[in-house]
Amino acid sequence: MVLSDLGRKLNAALSSLNRAPVVDEKVLEALLKEVCAALLESDVNVKLVSQLRAKVRTKVKAIFESSGDKTKEANRKNVVQKAVYDELVSLVDPGVEPYKPKKGHPNVLMAVGLQGNGKTTTCTKLAVHYQKRGFKSCIVCADTFRAGAFDQTRQSATKAKVAYFGSYTETDPVAIAAQGVAKFKKERFDVIIVDTSGRHKQESELFQEMVQIGEAVKPDMTVLILDASIGQAAEAQSRAFKDSADFGAIIVTKMDGHAKGGGAISAVAATQTPIIFLGTGEHLTDLDRFSPQPFISKLLGLGDVQGLMEHMQDLATQNPDRQKEMAKKLEEGKLSIRDWREQIQNVMNLGPISKIASMIPGLPQDMLQGSDEEGASRMKRMIYITDSMTSRELDSDGSLFMEFGKDGSGTSVREVEELLCQYRMMANMAKQAGGKNGWLQAMQKMQ
Ligand code: GDP
Repeated sequence: MVLSDLGRKLNAALSSLNRAPVVDEKVLEALLKEVCAALLESDVNVKLVSQLRAKVRTKVKAIFESSGDKTKEANRKNVVQKAVYDELVSLVDPGVEPYKPKKGHPNVLMAVGLQGNGKTTTCTKLAVHYQKRGFKSCIVCADTFRAGAFDQTRQSATKAKVAYFGSYTETDPVAIAAQGVAKFKKERFDVIIVDTSGRHKQESELFQEMVQIGEAVKPDMTVLILDASIGQAAEAQSRAFKDSADFGAIIVTKMDGHAKGGGAISAVAATQTPIIFLGTGEHLTDLDRFSPQPFISKLLGLGDVQGLMEHMQDLATQNPDRQKEMAKKLEEGKLSIRDWREQIQNVMNLGPISKIASMIPGLPQDMLQGSDEEGASRMKRMIYITDSMTSRELDSDGSLFMEFGKDGSGTSVREVEELLCQYRMMANMAKQAGGKNGWLQAMQKMQ
């Protein structure tokens, strides 16, 4: 999970309230000290941190004073926790809604940002994101400055199975951008992403080129791509871009490797520009949609139901009939081992295990421990065991005598028993959770 260190510290500070017998001013101040130290370590601007401290203090005191000693202890804890939560949300909330691509309309998005910030990678990730949601997406490479830029786009777009446009011979980026957008509009693409250059001999030339491309393709949204590692310096960089090429949204990349990401996010929010996504790795699916409340919820280990539902919808759009059938089977308690295996594979397709798990509210933190590789290999192992089952065994509910332990998979009888035990627990929990998406929650508890 991104900013896991910060999340852990904030969580620890908030949970310390549960250990305090009485929530008084001293306890509140100690908690605020811990919260602020964690934020500063994540490179959040000192001024923003001290504003947060003052606002929480004022809010909490006002509520305590208005209700006097009548406030029950448990309520006092809730008041403090809620005030901290709300202020953390407003710290990353720019208060501005971003543009949302609409279906049946060619949405032109133009990506700008300094070279190395992850612009080209992010363009492909964006195209994949929208493509998965039913938008016919494509990329136009209008970077003629960097040698090999078009090759990079071509390679990553081909890998992602996304249409692309560019030129090895045309040297005018404005002409390429205009041609590409016109071509894809004619071909009725829904999301057309224009990748621009991130470096020039002179900075002024870079900004001038961005303005010219913008005038030629008239983007519905210009997106600035920023690297999280610059921390709170993100504010100055975004202001510099805003002064020349106005943009409507920001994507902060490389959130996976940088403890300073908190600084970048809050600095950007302070410029009243919405962050729409966070780049969380080098893979094409490492792009998390960003919105303030779910982000803080996830950070504090409170889950992100909205994000989880979106993932579920992605699955459902890929194979709606099968998902409906599966939900029905679950409701009736008729899930076979074969169905279960299919669901494990589905979860693996949703994305890294830790990402999915962190969206589920109420999952104990230790469930999220271990690397994604470990989680994935546990899941693969389960699939591997089922691979050597007979058809009859696969279609059973696990109560059949298992013969496969002796041959094929090379797994021990104990491992098979473990798998069956997990399967039964999952089936029971799914039933209790009431079918539909309950299986996912249940399966994640197996991790
Ligand atoms: P551009 O010059 O802005 O187009 O940047 P690139 O797309 O070529 O990316 C520069 C480097 O950053 C590449 O090695 C990418 O794989 C890497 N990168 C991009 N986004 C992310 C991210 O979210 N996380 C990590 N860890 N690396 C990223």
